[in-house]
Amino acid sequence: METAGTNSEQLTDEKWQAIVGNDTAFDGSFFYAVKTTRIFCRPSCKSKPPNKENVRIFENAQQALSAKFRPCKRCKPTGQRLPDREWVEQITQYIDTHFCERLTLESLAEECHGSPYHLHRTFKRIKGVTVVEYVQQTRIETAKEMLAHTDQQVAKIAAAVGMPNTSYFMTLFKKLTGRTPTEYRQFHHKQSSVEGFIHENGEEAGSVLDIAEP
Ligand SMILES: [Zn+2]
Repeated sequence: METAGTNSEQLTDEKWQAIVGNDTAFDGSFFYAVKTTRIFCRPSCKSKPPNKENVRIFENAQQALSAKFRPCKRCKPTGQRLPDREWVEQITQYIDTHFCERLTLESLAEECHGSPYHLHRTFKRIKGVTVVEYVQQTRIETAKEMLAHTDQQVAKIAAAVGMPNTSYFMTLFKKLTGRTPTEYRQFHHKQSSVEGFIHENGEEAGSVLDIAEP
């Protein structure tokens, strides 16, 4: 690693063309990682071309691993099959950081480098819930947090958690929590005043599941 010239780690036009063209001739000569997904690939990987500004170049797979990137499920840049469990971990992390955007099984499969069918089956087998259920749970949990700790309107919260269709959001919220968003907010505030506003303004994202549920 010490001998690595910095030049070899730059995204030259040649490297970029190799990535965009899935050029197998470059396999082994460098690897590229995508900062947004934390996944790294061989140049020939058939996954969709990343945004150029998110690309990082590595001379070998070990360097990419050391920089905390994970091998792509599809092109297996370390030569080993990525265990399903790790892949599902990647998918889960992607959902956790992108649930507020529009997510489909197809877009998720594209981002996480697999087929939608395989992704669906593997996720369900390992997590015990479907991708759709997991996305919904994540959105509703975040919405609960926002209802409890902000005074934003329900429609705003719905949109903020990736559900711009407010009536669908309200239906799903009730289905998963047994309360409407407004009821939930009132309930939480009643709880809080009993507890002396212990949680007031105290919670940051990251402790989404912190509030006690009935
Ligand atoms: Zn790949």
